This record gives sequence, structure tokens and C-alpha cells, in this order.
Amino acid sequence: MVAVERVLLASPRGFCAGVEKAIKALGWMVRVFDPPVYCYHEIVHNRHVVEQFRRQGVVFVDDIALVPRGAPLMLSAHGSAPEVVAAARDRCGVVVDAVCPLVTKVHHELKVRASKGYTVLYVGHEGHEEAVGTMAVAPEAVRLVRSSEDVDALAATIPRDGQVALLAQTTLSHDEWAGIVERASERFEDLWMPNRSDLCFATTNRQAALKAIAGRSDAVVVIGSRNSSNTQALVKVAAAAGAGRVLMVNDATELPGDLRGTVGVTAGASAPDELVDGVVAALAPLHGVEEVTATTEEEYFPPPPELRELLRALAGVLAAGLGAPPADPAREQPSPDAEPSDTDATSRAAAQADSRSLRADDKSVLADDRHLSAASVLAELAHSTPVVPTGC
Ligand code: SF4
Repeated sequence: MVAVERVLLASPRGFCAGVEKAIKALGWMVRVFDPPVYCYHEIVHNRHVVEQFRRQGVVFVDDIALVPRGAPLMLSAHGSAPEVVAAARDRCGVVVDAVCPLVTKVHHELKVRASKGYTVLYVGHEGHEEAVGTMAVAPEAVRLVRSSEDVDALAATIPRDGQVALLAQTTLSHDEWAGIVERASERFEDLWMPNRSDLCFATTNRQAALKAIAGRSDAVVVIGSRNSSNTQALVKVAAAAGAGRVLMVNDATELPGDLRGTVGVTAGASAPDELVDGVVAALAPLHGVEEVTATTEEEYFPPPPELRELLRALAGVLAAGLGAPPADPAREQPSPDAEPSDTDATSRAAAQADSRSLRADDKSVLADDRHLSAASVLAELAHSTPVVPTGC
């Protein structure tokens, strides 16, 4: 225990709608299929979340060729390259794509601009899954930009009156983004940008909330994993906003013992709230916790279309075996990332789904995805018996 003076708690913090969607979807995969369930890349970039799913028999791979033919597969929230999606659909029995709809929006923008002959400058982090997946949508047209200097270097190779567009990874720091926008606008006449920047609402809101507390904090603790882009962005924002000291921790066990005074606390979009609770408890503030709310979030993303098809099929099984049919979650709200349904895949999904692993009270969960939280899914997994996969 550290015993600081006060904790300032940023709000919003932690899970965003895209992460909620992805965790709940993988939670369903774990319930529906016998292990192992496969996941292309970490479902979200958080060590605790990934470990919890590993204990339930999820095998994370970075290469579709490592997935046994016919096995169920989930694609991560970061968005996958078109050739990865195609290879997955060719190889796997059921493929559920948990891509965040806001990443899909950037894929679409890139595809459209490339088809119109634009050179697209994409501001992102080299090697990050989201950047890799997005750039693969139109590799011939896109150029990775990491800094204003990169814009200068590219400007020397692109005609000043050429058609140029500027897109971004969804989780950048606003300051990092603003500097590049300014330089690109100077360098290219008629620079095309989307009406709203690609930085997502969750990134924007968490950074705004952190700015509201950073200047009042002797130190800021950012909870999240090092490979999480939005968590790294929060660290930059805290430092730029005047926090005396900025720490990134996975959980309370990594807190140093010398924290004093007022400590600001926030969490990246993939960090569970229970980790925040643990950090605040370990800081043990003598004068309590003040929550500082920048805005409230009500965004909700429904389950991936393929999963809705699967759940609909399973609902029939449950209705036959366990009582009245649940409401159809697919009718709650049209999905912003809806794709044409793949009836063959759905049939395979229904055939492979193991209804024995569903309990009677799962009927209510099927009916009410909007009110189910990813935290409750993780809590349930934490109390489940760990699984040792018997497959490859
Ligand atoms: S951080 Fe933004 S882009 Fe990423 S999953 Fe959350 S809402 Fe989607």
C-alpha cells in the first residue's frame, strides 16, 4: 500500500465500445465451441484480458496458417488485412471478425481514396496491427507517416498539386496528430481529410479527461499494456499536460512505493476496470478519490454479423431444448460494419456449435447484448475452470 494524499480519477477511462464488442464476442466463442478457439492477434492489447482467454482454451496466433483447418477463429478488434480475412474464410470453419467499426471506417476511406487515384498519407505506428491491417487495404496508394519530418520527405516525391489524402490510426495522441495535420496542410494544396478525424471518440474522450486532471497531479498512473497504442498516447498526453511524473503500469503490483501527493489515474481503452479498482486501493488515498468527468459515453456496437447469425441459430437450439426463444439481438440496431451474411458459414457455425456448453440462463444473455458488459463476461471466465486445449 502506498498512501498518497488524493486520487483524481479520469472519466471516461478503460473499456470502449469496440473493446466491449470484441471481448463479449470472444466470450461467446469460448462458450459455444469446444476448445481450442483460435484468435488472430491478441483480441485487444491487454495482458490480463489475453491471459484470461488463454486459460479458457483460446490460442492466439499471428499467422492464419497456424490455425487447423475447420477450427473456429476470431479476428481481433484492430482490423485485419483483406488477404488475412480471405485466407481465414478459406481455412476456418467459422470466422468471426471482431474489427471495431471505427477501424472499418478508415479501411473504407482508404479504399475509396485509392480508387480515385489519391496518394494516401496514413499517420500510424509502424508494425502496429491496426496500421498493418489498414495499409494492406491499398498498399500501392498508401504511405506511412510517423512525424512531420516524414511529411516533408514525402512532399519531395509527390507533385504539389497531386491528389493527396490524410488518414490516421484511430488511437493516436491528439497533439501528435495535430502537428502532422498542420504540416501536411502546408505541404499539399487541396489536402483531403475526412470530415471528422479518424481519431476515435474513445481516444478523444480519454485524452480530454486525462488533460483535465494531469495538471493537478503530482504523478499520473496510466493503466494498460505497453503494446496498446491508445495507452501509449495517454502517457504522451499526461506528460504534455504537465503531470510531474507519468507511469504506465499493467496493474497495482507495478506501482512504485514512492508516490506522494495527488495522483491522477486513468486506463487505456483495453484495460479492465478491476485493474483500476486495484490501483486505487493500493494507492490508499488519505483524502479520498475525486472523479473528474470530461464527458459521458453511450456508444454501443452490436456483435459481429457472423456471430449474430451464429447466436440466432443457437437461439433455435435453446428454444427447442430450454424454453421460449429469446429476442433476436440482430434486430436491436443495424450494424455500422454490416457485411453480406455468409449463409454457408452460418450453416457451418450452427453445425459446429456445441449447445451443451450453454446453460439455461444464457437465454437472457442472448436477448440482451446491449446490457451485458465485457467486465461481467471476464468475471464469469475468471470463475470458470481453466481449459487445457487438446488440439494442436
Ligand atoms: S479505441 Fe476506438 S477504434 Fe479502438 S476499439 Fe475502441 S472505439 Fe474502436
